[in-house]
Amino acid sequence: MRIGVPKEPQEGQTLVAATPDTVAKLMALGYEVVVESGAGALASYPDALYEQAGATVANAAEVWQCDIVTAMDTPGSAYLDQLRPGAMFIARMAPGRHGDVVDYFTAHQVTALAMDAVPRISRAQSLDVLSSMANVGGYRAIIEAANVFGRLFTGQVTAAGKVPPATVYVIGAGVAGLAAIGTANSMGAVVRSTDLRPEVAEQVESMGAEFVPIPVASEESADGYAKEMTADQADAALRLYTEQVGEADIVVTTANIPGRTSPILVTAEAVARMKPGSVIVDMAAANGGNCELTVPGKRVVTDNGVTILGYTDLAGRLPAQASQLYGQNIVNFFKLVTPNKDGQPVLDMDDEVVRGMTVAKDGEKLWPPPPVTVS
Ligand code: NAD
Repeated sequence: MRIGVPKEPQEGQTLVAATPDTVAKLMALGYEVVVESGAGALASYPDALYEQAGATVANAAEVWQCDIVTAMDTPGSAYLDQLRPGAMFIARMAPGRHGDVVDYFTAHQVTALAMDAVPRISRAQSLDVLSSMANVGGYRAIIEAANVFGRLFTGQVTAAGKVPPATVYVIGAGVAGLAAIGTANSMGAVVRSTDLRPEVAEQVESMGAEFVPIPVASEESADGYAKEMTADQADAALRLYTEQVGEADIVVTTANIPGRTSPILVTAEAVARMKPGSVIVDMAAANGGNCELTVPGKRVVTDNGVTILGYTDLAGRLPAQASQLYGQNIVNFFKLVTPNKDGQPVLDMDDEVVRGMTVAKDGEKLWPPPPVTVS
């Protein structure tokens, strides 16, 4: 079968769902690959490299007519209307928030697989685009902070005097938070971190940071996501965050609750306690943000001189490698569904990874999936 890779139509999207390397891997599984001209240009993958890898470079119409289309995100109907009935579409689609998209695929007989709905079980880790993008984004959050922070990260003892290291505080030590911790630590900062889940303390410490626990912490939920806090936990956490934020030069917030608006963890009062020149990177900005003063997508500077970065495209600011990792997640999906390496995907609905990410198939709506049983 032919896999089409479109140029992402969303304004500012630098990423592409396949790179020359992943094209070759898809071909090794028996697929033909058709890449839209210019699809990889913003990620430093020119058309010629795709052709060298064995792909056909074509126009948008040809790509959208392929048996299978793999993309970063789900575009509007102007693009999706080009898909053939019976085609397969694979991308991030936030099916929990976009029921209209699920209904569209169902009505148009398109088999749709959501890369952002891969079940959170060990076996599915190699397909998990949320993790791969959060990892790159966490690294980039620190680079963005360092870029606007007008000071050194590392402490220095020089003939002209001592320079103290920067203090970095990371709220939420999941994939993104741990990547931010590791990056800040490697740049010489003193790093602290808090997470609702006390069991991440060991991972935080292994990345070189001090774990600062919430006095009334919660238990881990069965699916690996933090549970929503009780009122007591929320009060204790807010007091702790306000105190820690006031002492930090750089704050990175990563607390997402799937399918919900991000909780406010850094209040205007906490920001007011920060020193001029301090920086907050709000990695939850896409869902509203963890800081009360975040403006999603923007850089704002408060009256007391604190810069708040609400960028929602952190992984897209490292497009070559973010595309490579996303493309490898796609290859790993095709490895799972192409056991005979014959370019013919077989969607086994008894496989909970495949079932979990399939939102529509042959005109049948399959979202939401049944709960995952294996961890
Ligand atoms: P996430 O984006 O849902 O949340 C980020 C972090 O913020 C989490 O650690 C969460 O506990 C924390 N958080 C949420 N609300 C908070 C609050 N109010 N205060 C402080 N912290 C808060 O999570 P994620 O980074 O995608 O992953 C979370 C966990 O799941 C990790 O342990 C990760 O290793 C695991 N995971 C497993 C798989 C898999 O097995 N396939 C895949 C992805 C992630």
